[in-house]
Amino acid sequence: MPTQSNNHPLIIAGPCSAESEEQLLATASALKKLNIDIFRAGVWKPRTRPDSFEGVGSIGLTWLKNVKKVTGLPTAVEVAKPVHIEEALKNEIDILWIGARTTVNPFIVQELAEAMKGADIKVMVKNPINPDLSLWIGAIERIQNAGIKSVAAVHRGFSSFDNTKFKNTPTWQIPIELKRLLPDIPLICDPSHISGKRALIFEVAQKALDLDYDGLMIETHIDPNEALSDKEQQVTPDQLKKILGDLKIRKPSSDNVEFINQLEELRSKIDNMDRELLETLTARMAVVEKIGKYKKEHNVTILQVERWREIFKTRPQWAKKMNLNEKFIAELYKLIHDESIRKQTGVFKSANKGHNSVK
Ligand code: PEP
Ligand code: MN
Repeated sequence: MPTQSNNHPLIIAGPCSAESEEQLLATASALKKLNIDIFRAGVWKPRTRPDSFEGVGSIGLTWLKNVKKVTGLPTAVEVAKPVHIEEALKNEIDILWIGARTTVNPFIVQELAEAMKGADIKVMVKNPINPDLSLWIGAIERIQNAGIKSVAAVHRGFSSFDNTKFKNTPTWQIPIELKRLLPDIPLICDPSHISGKRALIFEVAQKALDLDYDGLMIETHIDPNEALSDKEQQVTPDQLKKILGDLKIRKPSSDNVEFINQLEELRSKIDNMDRELLETLTARMAVVEKIGKYKKEHNVTILQVERWREIFKTRPQWAKKMNLNEKFIAELYKLIHDESIRKQTGVFKSANKGHNSVK
């Protein structure tokens, strides 16, 4: 991947699908003026339903080759079969990406990895459509094991049956965890496929930059209303210019001494509070254990639904009064309750000797 420079995110832009040579050239020339880094266009489109536009096929690669010749922009295309890779390499495509519907299938990813062996190519791996971090990491590893040095991850959100604000739920904790586990893999956000509508792209892109992502992939079409795929989410080059201009690019760190000192002071406060939190949790668990012993002695079940209901109802209410997010506290209590049950199960399983020694 061309790496980001001066803390500027890598910008990948271009239409969802290549539709004609004119459309590609018009879009790419306008994007060239915005100084984007990579031009994208899909020529084989993995569509959910068979009656959708499925891409122009290999002819689109010759158009992309021409785009590169005319604008000098590196080109990127989606591949889903080994033959796609062969065709893309013949047309001097610089970057291949594996789509969300392909990343889910280790057999296909492995076949693609085999087909990439020995090629001087960069590869982007989109997250699988289901929120499975291991599947995403597995696909990245398969490509790396084929000897590809430059691999990036693209976060495009996860399918959900519920109607949410987004077309694909971002579930930010998954890419954040990916970044923690694979710190050397550049992380790129695709706010277009997360949003599903252009009005949301800016907010998703800004959030990604605030989370220190390395780049953005934004679908851009010279005439989005006439686009043959993903019409609602594509922006014009002018709209992209506005989005990029409005984005606040923050630094991962600062060398301002006052900032560093204040941050250190606040972090040491957090460290102390975390110790207190953990001490309180330890003390709470000790009480839980004691209760477990009583329950065992009196032959009473571990799970007491009424009590659990009461906790699950009251704690978020208490939290709300303290200006804490109710949902967060409800989730936290689910974890605490699971752990309490695990602890008491341990007590129940432990040898009976001394079971009367509850003090
Ligand atoms: C695309 O980038 O146009 C595409 C099909 O993406 P995804 O695999 O994320 O759905
Ligand atoms: Mn698309």
